[in-house]
Amino acid sequence: MKNSKRWGRRVLSALAAAAVLAAVPVGAAGNGKSKGKPPASSHRYIEVQLLGINDFHGQLNVTRKVGGREVGRADYLAAYLKQREAENKNTLLVHAGDAVGASPPVSALLQDEPTIEVLNKLGFDVGTLGNHEFDEGVAEMLRLIHGGYHPATGDFAGADFPYVSANVVDAQTGKPILPPYVIKRVNGMPIGLIGVTLTETPTIVTPSGVAGVKFIDEATAINKAVRELKKKGVQTIVVLAHNPGVSNPDGTNASGEIVDIAKNVDDEVDVIFAGHNHAYLNAVVDGKLLVQSYSYGTAFSDVDLKIDPRTKDVVAKKAEIVTTYHDGITPDPEIRALVEKYEAKVAPLVNQVVGTAAETITDEQNESGESALGNLIADAQRAAMKTDFAFMNPGGIRADIEQGEVTWGELYNVQPFNNQLVKMTLTGAQIRQLLNQQWQPTQTRMLQISGLRYTWSASRPVGEKVIDIQLPDGTPLKPDAEYTVTVNSFLADGGDGFTVLTHGTNREVGPVDLDALVTYIRQLSQPFSAQIEGRITKLQ
Ligand SMILES: [Zn+2]
Repeated sequence: MKNSKRWGRRVLSALAAAAVLAAVPVGAAGNGKSKGKPPASSHRYIEVQLLGINDFHGQLNVTRKVGGREVGRADYLAAYLKQREAENKNTLLVHAGDAVGASPPVSALLQDEPTIEVLNKLGFDVGTLGNHEFDEGVAEMLRLIHGGYHPATGDFAGADFPYVSANVVDAQTGKPILPPYVIKRVNGMPIGLIGVTLTETPTIVTPSGVAGVKFIDEATAINKAVRELKKKGVQTIVVLAHNPGVSNPDGTNASGEIVDIAKNVDDEVDVIFAGHNHAYLNAVVDGKLLVQSYSYGTAFSDVDLKIDPRTKDVVAKKAEIVTTYHDGITPDPEIRALVEKYEAKVAPLVNQVVGTAAETITDEQNESGESALGNLIADAQRAAMKTDFAFMNPGGIRADIEQGEVTWGELYNVQPFNNQLVKMTLTGAQIRQLLNQQWQPTQTRMLQISGLRYTWSASRPVGEKVIDIQLPDGTPLKPDAEYTVTVNSFLADGGDGFTVLTHGTNREVGPVDLDALVTYIRQLSQPFSAQIEGRITKLQ
């Protein structure tokens, strides 16, 4: 998903098995649409099953709730996948990106190697890149895929299955950094699987994360791969696309980027697995079956194909989005043991108590755009770097701080991105520009602030919404004066469209944002709290 909090949220203590999350709508029923004539006698056809997940985000041990029932966790997901696999040996397991990144400590503290290990154990056949695979840069992403050494974890063997990516290319050579597609043979039927990642990725991950690569148009890249596959006699073609889409449970009202992509790609494409917006999608658009199964292992997509062995093409297809309810299934013991092994490895750090929250501190913004948790985080960052001001992107705040004892693991879930803090110098005029950049043509992102207060008006045009900016003592910010500012590395690189921050001077890199928050909370008098204080005021 994007580096903003639009969909999933409220990841509670990573080791708490019964963490409760906001319910997401359930759509367990399939909508069995198919292309072409129904088979006269189905035994002539080869039945192939594709089981897909998207946006798993390393949620190995996080339980969520759907309609009051527990869902999620790798061991339950594994049980469901194995159950479906047992029903049809002609099965491929696929993922459509964001398998790793923004993950809980059990995976993140070990460089997300545990998640790749789980996918290996489940026998995944192919995956593609989401935006979050780029969180720690291309080299680390390729290390997770191909294997290699990391100082935190040592040697790692990598993924046992290929990653495909047709539209992420080397910025120098223009060549894809991974194979654009693979061909899997299932019961003699060649199936081409093509990968693409949303072209907006460079605007939603830390710019250093995508240094050295370019994202080319998804449909163009898919069509090139389709041409090559057709030349090789492959007629059954599946796309793994980390691009958003959503539909009604009955398949009507399909919308999102993936719908446009579907319309623009060759009609030889049979199925597209979408992702990124953590939504339900099960629809036929332009003859292509589009699916997405929410996120975090709370559901998976089960696509059933009938392939004519003479033409090697799909004659019928349907999908079901299956929710991974815990009741009624036994978690897979092999995957459970693996997850518990990794939990034990990270437990000492995760369970450390950092402080005690007097009340729940949320990132819920008031009408002006200020939140209590945003204030706490911005204060922590300003204190860590000893600057005049701090600015925090709201999308980087991923969970609330619950009342009571606060563990390191809970704070990790609040700030999971491992962004380093960056100190820089900006003029008063640049700070005004920064605040005005909160209102962008398609989205408003209210920065959480520390060390200043300001007023803004909704009735003023974009670029001029900010009115008075004041220092804590009430003196106005001087356009020509220089001020020191702390932001995280995502913002410092111009993330979320805050381009003025790329012009900051005297840059100095500091601790990881999470460490700054931990340090800050530890030195507060306990129990600690945080409030909305009127730092941001919307004028009527
Ligand atoms: Zn994504």
